[in-house]
Amino acid sequence: MDDDKTRTKLLQERDRLLREIDELEDGLAVSLADTSEESPYDQHMAEAAAFTQERQMDLTLEENARHGLARVERALKKLDDGSYGVCDACAKAIGHGRLNIAPDASLCIDCQRLTEKGL
Ligand SMILES: [Zn+2]
Repeated sequence: MDDDKTRTKLLQERDRLLREIDELEDGLAVSLADTSEESPYDQHMAEAAAFTQERQMDLTLEENARHGLARVERALKKLDDGSYGVCDACAKAIGHGRLNIAPDASLCIDCQRLTEKGL
């Protein structure tokens, strides 16, 4: 396991996510400004509906990006304290194959599956 390479990958991913969150937040601010203008009632309703949908989608994207960011930050912390590659839940090795695909993984595949099932 090449820690430096992993760190670089994680830092790049963190930058990407931070930019994504920034852009989404800019977009949300702009669409708020757009709909604050006076407009005829019907048009306003249609705009408001489209706006709500769009905003909802952006919020979901932003939430996903924030979750991704939290995973990346967690992985960077594990690199720092030497627990990288060790499962947070059961303390077994996560496995290089899995870390190659998902360098931000902090759970082994078994624990990840349990989490996704909500157990
Ligand atoms: Zn585990």
